[in-house]
Amino acid sequence: MARLTFLGAAGVVSGSRHLLDHGGARILVDCGLFQGDKWLRERNWRPLDPPADSVDAVVLTHAHIDHSGWLPRLVREGFRGPIFATPATADLLPLLLYDSAKCQEEDALYANRKGFSRHHPALPLYDEADVARTLRRVRPVTRQRVFEPARGVRCRFHDAGHMLGSAFVEAELDGPGRPTTVLFSGDLGRYDAPLYADPCPPPACDHLVLESTYGDRDHPAIRPLDDLERAIREALPRGGMILVASFAVGRTQQLVYLLRTLMAAGRLPEIPVWIDSPMAVEATEVFRRHAAEHDFTEANVAGVAEALVSPWVRMARTAEESKAINGHAGSGIVIASSGMMTGGRILHHLARRLPDPGTTVLVAGFQAAGTRGRSLLDGADTLRIHGREIPVRAAIRRVDALSGHADRNEVTRWLEGMPAPRNVFLVHGEPPAARGMAERLHERFGWQATLPALGASYDLDGPVTPPQPPTIR
Ligand SMILES: [Zn+2]
Repeated sequence: MARLTFLGAAGVVSGSRHLLDHGGARILVDCGLFQGDKWLRERNWRPLDPPADSVDAVVLTHAHIDHSGWLPRLVREGFRGPIFATPATADLLPLLLYDSAKCQEEDALYANRKGFSRHHPALPLYDEADVARTLRRVRPVTRQRVFEPARGVRCRFHDAGHMLGSAFVEAELDGPGRPTTVLFSGDLGRYDAPLYADPCPPPACDHLVLESTYGDRDHPAIRPLDDLERAIREALPRGGMILVASFAVGRTQQLVYLLRTLMAAGRLPEIPVWIDSPMAVEATEVFRRHAAEHDFTEANVAGVAEALVSPWVRMARTAEESKAINGHAGSGIVIASSGMMTGGRILHHLARRLPDPGTTVLVAGFQAAGTRGRSLLDGADTLRIHGREIPVRAAIRRVDALSGHADRNEVTRWLEGMPAPRNVFLVHGEPPAARGMAERLHERFGWQATLPALGASYDLDGPVTPPQPPTIR
């Protein structure tokens, strides 16, 4: 008997955790951190249900924290199995997880200083020692190779085109008759995205677990290069700093690559660009090591590497170098993380520059409910940063072209030609987005999709799978 339980990313876009129970084997596909609204973040403190030590293996679609960031906590709670990931994901995990541990430790310190934690002293969700124990469990598997995370379950990674190392997962479950297949889309990338290959066509499946981040939205049909040029040209006359909140891994490399292309072609003036992230530099090295996995020709690799050492790119590795950017008057671009402005160095720049009407904030990529990025997009007059209300006088602009997620049309394009699955579960979307995707699938293919609630569990063997009541509240 096979059963699928949605322990995260159901009705929300973070905390991806899909549990597959089959013939006594238990596999977790992704193990992400909940981010955004407080009620969600508090879920990070609940123990896994079922217990972590009853899980046999984890299969990881990609390294983003909302898919991988709860792994160290899982290990702290007693998980002792292997973690399967593509080689590039395996190489990125140390960067992302150690950084996440640092954020957890800083949060705990901050809570202790301000005395707002219920626990005395406040402890981090996990620390660097937990990350080290987690990394020892990682088993790299190249895409297209069949592996067996637990008895009776075979899996295969396919290129999802979403970030370095990203994959969607095909799982085949043995049964009395023909095996049952479950396809987990993970996060699906975009067609013709800079540096990444297009998502691979999906194989047929019995059950599809599909992301719906942008299920109610179509990105404008504009090339990333043109979109970025337009946004920066519009910002330049304001005369101030251009702030870009960006994941250090992936989007920063795309941005630098596009900026270099635009400046080299004379389409933008050579203004200083600060990469305010030590992690972005290390991540670029990982890109280089896995050049073959991506739409990463030698010219592209050289382009990114060259851009990173060109005179107009300035690296801020240390806190002092980061603070020195404050002294800069006039135009310039600061790229800093975190991508949804939930923490990291971008907050210092926002606190300083948001009150200045000369400033432009470029919002690139999905901004979850409850994050500062979402508040800015929603037109907030003030933003709370480090305990202070900061007035927002800067111009806020969305740059859709740099989104890492397929929109409604691209997801439809990806599914074109796939025979109807018995079940489609829509995950990783806020309710309007998931509903939008469901409508589109119905219009386009006549499919009925299910929108699972957090904790909902489904029997995959029957002809129809009525939802079970949620097992967690
Ligand atoms: Zn992702």
